[in-house]
Amino acid sequence: MSHRANADQGAGVVVVGAGFAGIAAVGVLARAGRRVTLVDRHGYHTFQPLLYQVATAALNPGDVAFSARRLLRHASGVEFRQAALIGLRLDERVAALDDGTELAYDGLVLATGAATNFFGVPGAAEHAVGMYTLDDADRVRDRLFALLEQADRQAAGAPSPTPVRLVVVGGGATGVEMAGALAELLDAVVPRDFRHLERDATEVVLVEARDALLGAFAPQLRDYARAELARRGVRLRFDTTVRSVTATHVVVEPGGALDAGLVVWAAGVSARELPARLGLPQAGSGRVQVLPNLSLPGHPEVFAVGDVAALPARDGGTVAQLAQPAIQSGRHAAEELLRPGGPPRPFRYRDRGAMATIGRRAAVAELPARVRLTGTPAWLAWCGLHLVTLLGARNRLSVLVNWTWQYLSWRSGPNVVARD
Ligand SMILES: Cc1cc2nc3c(=O)[nH]c(=O)nc-3n(C[C@H](O)[C@H](O)[C@H](O)COP(=O)(O)OP(=O)(O)OC[C@H]3O[C@@H](n4cnc5c(N)ncnc54)[C@H](O)[C@@H]3O)c2cc1C
Repeated sequence: MSHRANADQGAGVVVVGAGFAGIAAVGVLARAGRRVTLVDRHGYHTFQPLLYQVATAALNPGDVAFSARRLLRHASGVEFRQAALIGLRLDERVAALDDGTELAYDGLVLATGAATNFFGVPGAAEHAVGMYTLDDADRVRDRLFALLEQADRQAAGAPSPTPVRLVVVGGGATGVEMAGALAELLDAVVPRDFRHLERDATEVVLVEARDALLGAFAPQLRDYARAELARRGVRLRFDTTVRSVTATHVVVEPGGALDAGLVVWAAGVSARELPARLGLPQAGSGRVQVLPNLSLPGHPEVFAVGDVAALPARDGGTVAQLAQPAIQSGRHAAEELLRPGGPPRPFRYRDRGAMATIGRRAAVAELPARVRLTGTPAWLAWCGLHLVTLLGARNRLSVLVNWTWQYLSWRSGPNVVARD
């Protein structure tokens, strides 16, 4: 039976989602002394930008996750609740959780992020693995190493074993980073740890529906990424659409069926499902439709921020689903909640640029004022930025040690134990 968990003590602010946006909102509210309950279905914050390194065994899962309770240890007045938001009664200011409880609020920040978008491609959700959660990264890692194990065994006993093909779907930043990391893994780890398996018997294929990689970046950065991936042996299939996925194949057009031991789906994210379930107004993309100050129409006490919201951009469009917009929108919503009754202030995103890494000393960076970097400078900027934004000193140290060790040893990451 459900009960109101905090109604008797007077409602505070409820923040749903311990991602970049939710944590930024909690930080502002906690510093102002507001009573806050942070809710997340997981007990930890996930640093998504480094998930692909967990998937390729360059980092440990614990390096990119940070306990929500530990994060809030010194924030008096902020409580954490591990539960999923499953319903909202906006007029009563009540949020329903999947543990059967309800939270009353006088302010609500919805920061639940997005989910992998399989675009309804038959078999994709069943057989491909997304790259959005820690669970996804673990699944890729387990499947990848189980596949290499099996291929090595086969190669030891057969003169012409079945080739190992790893297919990455999507040529945005996540797909490029994933494909680059898989190619480096095959180059550096396979010859040393899987001695029967020839590098030539393994292949990474990146499938992209458009005619270029990294659509959001400047043309010279796209060309650089394309050349670097090709140099690392990644087979690039442009103007190619995935029609279906099975346990052993990807069917692409043009091209037909392609053997695939592992399919990583990095083709995009969608925030359609939860807003629809909660009955919230949705923009065309499925993201929550918000007013310029990020509140919900008719509900000045409710805000949607980060990936789940259609964050308004200055040009009339929407801001990309990236970490900086999430952080800035989370802070903005909290600041708006701290001045109830005041005239709403529109959210103004300050562009801090975007980066993507391709591999060792190869990255692209598109910075403000049209500063564009490639190669080692972009890679160092990428490493520095990710270390600084990662939560927790222990995690930063662990990532730094892993990266340094891999750099010096030419790729020897955390020890992997495949579970299936
Ligand atoms: C693989 C990958 C690589 C990326 N690389 C970069 C990069 O290099 N640079 C960059 O700027 N951006 C990058 N991004 C994008 C960036 O990570 C996201 O834009 C950012 O995480 C969005 O923050 P958020 O707080 O809105 O959502 P999230 O970080 O997704 O957090 C949402 C939180 O809500 C919780 N949640 C969801 N549903 C519920 C529910 N019903 N109830 C309770 N809790 C719920 C989730 O558990 C999660 O903790 C990357 C994303 C991915 C997936």
